[in-house]
Amino acid sequence: MKILVVNCGSSSIKYQLIDMENEQVMAKGLVERIGIPGSVITHRPEGKDKVVIEAEMKNHTVGIKYVIDCLTHPEYGVIKDMKEIDATGHRVAHGGELFSEPELVDQRVFEGVRDLGRLAPLHNPASVMGIEATEEALPGVPMVTVFDTAFHQTMPPKAFLYGIPYNMYKDYAIRSYGFHGTSHKYVAETVAKEIGKPIEDLKIITCHLGNGASITAVDGGKSVDTSMGFTPLGGLIMGTRCGDMDPAVVPFIMEKEGFTPEDMNQFMNKKCGVEGISGVSSDFRDVEEAANNGNERARYALDMFIYRVQRYIGAYTAAMNGLDVLVFTAGIGENSITMREEICKNMDFFGITIDPEKNNIRGEIKEISQDSGRVKVYVVPTNEELMIARETKAIVEKLGK
Ligand code: ADP
Repeated sequence: MKILVVNCGSSSIKYQLIDMENEQVMAKGLVERIGIPGSVITHRPEGKDKVVIEAEMKNHTVGIKYVIDCLTHPEYGVIKDMKEIDATGHRVAHGGELFSEPELVDQRVFEGVRDLGRLAPLHNPASVMGIEATEEALPGVPMVTVFDTAFHQTMPPKAFLYGIPYNMYKDYAIRSYGFHGTSHKYVAETVAKEIGKPIEDLKIITCHLGNGASITAVDGGKSVDTSMGFTPLGGLIMGTRCGDMDPAVVPFIMEKEGFTPEDMNQFMNKKCGVEGISGVSSDFRDVEEAANNGNERARYALDMFIYRVQRYIGAYTAAMNGLDVLVFTAGIGENSITMREEICKNMDFFGITIDPEKNNIRGEIKEISQDSGRVKVYVVPTNEELMIARETKAIVEKLGK
């Protein structure tokens, strides 16, 4: 079975064609600047040179057509005919309370994704465009939506409700949803397999530390709490996002700076976090370098990031009444040896240790804790596309395909 995984942004389409016989990527690529002058597709077929094509792409429908053309091209394609694509799997940011599992797209699902645009105005409309475009390009091919929020739908009310009147939850759907669910689920399942224990018997904390960053408590395979909230702004301090703070700061800044609600939202998403504190960059490599060169603000930014990760690890160990496995994933989690080391420093009360020699790796699955450590600490590279493809395959197989 061959599955095309599609991840649409408002002006972009990321794609991967995965052969599910061996879970190998056959080709991947990125369409950028859809609807803006200078549209371009970068196509990377496995075992062949990459191809860059500039062409006018006025909408996602045209973008998807270029994707299919690249995949089936006699020279740089990887399949002969688009009929070889058995299904498409779509990443969708927000599933609200409507979707706690991946879904086969039908009218109900399509309308659900569209209506949830009210909770994710930047993201869900792009998925809607992607679904429509794919339907047009590959008529009759089953489409599956995989939601970033779905894994966290197992959180209990005490974890997902906010301390505001209950009718705000009922009337406006204000609650914590959590994000990065596909990644948290993938690394939790992968680490359980690697350890060779049923996930049902494990208490796992997964740290997805990238530009966007979140931490999840996975008890017996289920998400019981996660650091992002109503939007991906909550929880940790991130590259450019502020994370949690006293809510009274929001109206205070708005008044001081004369910000509208939209200005304030942009500010908290784009101008804060590690970049705002350090004044250097949102990229941890730059901030680490600046801190090493004596930049005090860069050091504060890193210390704040580390401290908050540690606090979540402590909180989630309490939430689960224990911890068996701590997992690091995503850009920083997979690659930053120093961040992992500093996060795990002074955590021995929790049984968390790190072996500096084992920790000297990037981007591979590996245990990095000391042999004597009570908690197993792992690096597990995330693979959201593969998880989406697996979820898609499971649903399509149920159709008897
Ligand atoms: P996202 O998918 O949220 O955009 P990624 O998971 O790709 O983000 O992570 C990007 C971040 O990973 C960058 O901000 C960068 O700081 C960090 N990163 C990547 N490689 C390294 C490294 N070798 N050392 C430290 N940080 C790194």
